[in-house]
Amino acid sequence: MAISKKGTENLQLSAVVQNSDDAIISLTLDGTINSWNKAARKMYGFTEAEVMGKHISILIGSEKITEEESILARIKEGRKVHHFETVRISKDGREIPVSLTISPIKDKEGKIIGASKIARDITLHKQASEKLAWLAAIVDSSTDAIVSKTLEGIIISWNTAARRMFGYTEKEAIGKHISMIIPAGRINEENIIISKIRNGDQIKHFETVRIAKDGRKVNISLTVSPIRGQKGKIVGASKIIRDITEQIKTSEKLKLYSKQLEQMNSYKDNFIGMASHELKTPLASINGYLQILERSIEGAQNKLFVKKAITQVAKLAALVSDLLDISKIQSGKLSLNCVKFDFNELLEEVTETIQQTTSSHVFELQIGSSVKINADRHRLEQVLINLLTNSTKYSPDAEKVIIKSAIKDNCVRVSVQDFGIGIPREEHDKIFSRFYRVEEPAHTFSGLGLGLYIANEIISMHKGKLWVESAPQRGSTFFFEIPVAGNP
Ligand code: ADP
Repeated sequence: MAISKKGTENLQLSAVVQNSDDAIISLTLDGTINSWNKAARKMYGFTEAEVMGKHISILIGSEKITEEESILARIKEGRKVHHFETVRISKDGREIPVSLTISPIKDKEGKIIGASKIARDITLHKQASEKLAWLAAIVDSSTDAIVSKTLEGIIISWNTAARRMFGYTEKEAIGKHISMIIPAGRINEENIIISKIRNGDQIKHFETVRIAKDGRKVNISLTVSPIRGQKGKIVGASKIIRDITEQIKTSEKLKLYSKQLEQMNSYKDNFIGMASHELKTPLASINGYLQILERSIEGAQNKLFVKKAITQVAKLAALVSDLLDISKIQSGKLSLNCVKFDFNELLEEVTETIQQTTSSHVFELQIGSSVKINADRHRLEQVLINLLTNSTKYSPDAEKVIIKSAIKDNCVRVSVQDFGIGIPREEHDKIFSRFYRVEEPAHTFSGLGLGLYIANEIISMHKGKLWVESAPQRGSTFFFEIPVAGNP
């Protein structure tokens, strides 16, 4: 049987409906489903047989049912509904965001007998626009100004921070050339930036200056990245601009303070140098007169007083000499006077001298045969005196100090071990700094915190090293090592 033209059209139409990517369904005016295409099945999960003759409410959550009623009321009046965004429920209970277009269906006489619904799944579109909204919120809540522009420099986007930073509203900025915030003398910067962007390069943390609407200078750090279009072609640039005005002010203040501090430090060093130099001469003369007095004075008590005075003057002279050394180190004027000598002999000598002035401790010396080194004898003596004096000073309850010297890897290694108060781990490096004293026992033991600093300098000048192994209440062992050969 031949099919009429109308019949052919109907067949074609039905094929279009069946193969559409959008769900297409039709309803009677009371909401009963009477057609259901393949895409509707795919989208909602119901087969045609499951929905035919059922009410459309099977796709609609209870809270949206009135929405459907008002749509049908509109259709009955012969009006269409375009791109209405809502949510429908699939067979397995999933919520599907859809965009609906609903039109009235008329019979031959033009009477409205139903509605056709085209539903488009807009899940992906929704996700994309939610993501965009998130991104926009991030950009807008950023404290850095975020601005995008074309390769010609025309501003395309301008966030809230950009408004705060430069004073132009989004409306005032968009469409304008970026040069509106660039100082006249820096316009060339923009050309350099754009040429880098055209090459696909990024500009990171470029520090420069921009001008706000009210003429204010804004110190900024700029990071500019290329924006690529869909085909990867560079179409513009995004700028992240950080206001570093405060940062610059702070760092300028810091520079000033550190310069002032340096100057004050140098005044202090000069003063220490001058004062200790000036103190040296009268001290030497007091010492001289006391020596004469010691020899000539009569009476045991008088002799004792003079002896005590000589001891105190010697302590004062040692302090003054430390201060003088500090100022020499600071000004780079501490020099070595190297000669060849037997190091173990020096060690024996120093130990003996200190032993003579110490009744509380016994020094146990463990050394090998002679070791000839080329070094500053006087300066190494100073180091040993400091270590030995400290070993008794900081071990008031102990009775013994062990001193060892041995050759190791072509170096003389000396250790001075005491059984005293010890030093906490976190202080081990600090005690070699100028004027540093471990806080806890500082009020119990006298001292200026200079000895180890000077000793460390002297050992370094001999291309050696000085270090400590110690733990609180477990005693300390100070080590130093200097090369046997090749000293300065
Ligand atoms: P001073 O003894 O005059 O304070 P030093 O530079 O010789 O200065 O020593 C610095 C600090 O290191 C001392 O104040 C002390 O806290 C700590 N120290 C040095 N030697 C010892 C030691 N043998 N035992 C415990 N602490 C020590």
